[in-house]
Amino acid sequence: MTVALYPGSFDPVTKGHLDIVRRASRLFEKVIVGVYDMPAKGRTLFTTEERVDMFRQATSDTPNIDVVPYKGLTVTFAREQGAMVMVRGLRASSDFEYEFEMAMMNRNIEPQVEVVCLMSRLDYQFLSSSLLKEVAQLGGVIGNLVPAHVESALTERLHKLQRSVGSFREPGLKE
Ligand code: ADP
Repeated sequence: MTVALYPGSFDPVTKGHLDIVRRASRLFEKVIVGVYDMPAKGRTLFTTEERVDMFRQATSDTPNIDVVPYKGLTVTFAREQGAMVMVRGLRASSDFEYEFEMAMMNRNIEPQVEVVCLMSRLDYQFLSSSLLKEVAQLGGVIGNLVPAHVESALTERLHKLQRSVGSFREPGLKE
């Protein structure tokens, strides 16, 4: 059985990620989505548990996709999971250099793990979680870029953050 690992931070999962993982699930018997558990708190908008839950909900209709958190080196996690393939998504030209460097470094650590890059669909070429968060924060439309449950989680989290920043500033505000 060929097991593939699709690793990332998925903060939050977008339709670009979902397109890649669905296509990978047709190529490999099992796909493990590895959600990177950041060592430093506060570097992601969502906690690891939230990121895992959102991805799980989005792929609950595909039985050969498993979503699990992981810490440490991605290739080591791949080996532990019995994954001989690591799937990555490539957008336009922006991802190539970084992915190429990572693949070379990973090959040096775990030569048995092969990297398979899938080209992003045209409509998601310019979609990234970080840009999505920026647009959502400024009130832009993101409904066509993420599943509905991610859109509401994102809106709720950003409102909560804005409220806490507002209440923190209020005492010092002078008009
Ligand atoms: P990172 O690994 O930098 O934290 P992500 O978690 O967002 O980034 O992405 C995980 C993987 O999904 C990477 O291979 C990334 O290139 C890919 N990816 C991200 N967004 C898209 C997209 N819109 N289309 C295709 N692949 C994507």
